[in-house]
Amino acid sequence: MNTKYWSADEALADLNEAAAALAAGGIVAFPTETVYGLGGDAGNTEAVRRIFAAKGRPSDNPLIVHVEDASAALRLAKQVSDVERRLMETFWPGPLTLVLPVREGAVSPLVTAGLDTVAVRVPAHETARRLIAASGRPIAAPSANRSGRPSPTLAAHVREDLDGRIDGLLDGGPTGVGLESTVVQAAGDRIHILRPGGVTREMLQQAVGERVSVFGSDSGTGEAAAPQEHAPRSPGVKYAHYAPKGELLLVAGNPAAMIAAVQAQVTEAKARGLRVGVLASSEHAPRYEADAVLDCGSRSEPELAAQSLYALLRECDDRGLDFIVAEGYEERGIGAALMNRLRKAAGGRVLHV
Ligand code: AMP
Ligand code: MG
Repeated sequence: MNTKYWSADEALADLNEAAAALAAGGIVAFPTETVYGLGGDAGNTEAVRRIFAAKGRPSDNPLIVHVEDASAALRLAKQVSDVERRLMETFWPGPLTLVLPVREGAVSPLVTAGLDTVAVRVPAHETARRLIAASGRPIAAPSANRSGRPSPTLAAHVREDLDGRIDGLLDGGPTGVGLESTVVQAAGDRIHILRPGGVTREMLQQAVGERVSVFGSDSGTGEAAAPQEHAPRSPGVKYAHYAPKGELLLVAGNPAAMIAAVQAQVTEAKARGLRVGVLASSEHAPRYEADAVLDCGSRSEPELAAQSLYALLRECDDRGLDFIVAEGYEERGIGAALMNRLRKAAGGRVLHV
């Protein structure tokens, strides 16, 4: 298949062509404020099947449906509670996905992987919203990467993974947050974070007030844990994600103790003949000696590390690194989502200092 390349900066013609391709059952990658998505008409089972095939995504991992506004979301849901309405009003458009009871027949059963819920969000990216509106359809869109690869934050990443496997790519430059949306499910007076992201637990708690409790998703993070037997589950979170080709070790804990611990790991791996890299904060980066030291930005601005993480993981591959040591961040605000993705990239290899 020939992939068409469109630019979001070119007059409306490109955007309209991309929208027409979506409406005709095509699969098209487009920018959002989180990462690039690979979109298809959520009501068209054949289009959705092609999304799974292009990504090599397991069919039991449901897709997020992207819509133009809250009223389009309401058309997909069987019912919406006051708490869910409040979340929509507060965070949409934006990087928050709500898991809602699905209205029968509203989307292809492939989208929900057979569940009785559908995940929905309204993206805050202007190009994404205009594209969805012009297509006139709810758009199912997982991240536009091959399964197991870091999510794309540049059009070049999408091209690397999916050229020739999709109908088109709408280039809108670098994405904003750099990590996927926060996924939540409300149940009575509880909100469960199924996947942390750009909308943080602190922001959610503030929006819903004291009478609703917000439960985090990661264990061992010092967050108040949800009663696990009642906590809803997100099928996708069981998959190893975001992995670079080299082995990644996450060093978490006290920043003051981190430099010595990271350098010791680097030195030891180099002695084994490995090509070693470090993902380091700007403050610590000059202190390391390794084959590559990749700067993730200042420790006081974890938003920068979130924005650049996936591009840096791809760079680790490009540089042929066998072993990567990554500095951890404080599990607060966007730091919680950042650490969640780093733990996944590390496949559980975490050294606490
Ligand atoms: P991705 O599209 O790659 O960002 O992944 C979408 C995430 O949303 C995965 O972790 C899915 O498991 C999750 N998700 C999508 N639909 C549902 C649903 N109906 N219930 C729970 N989690 C969902
Ligand atoms: Mg993904």
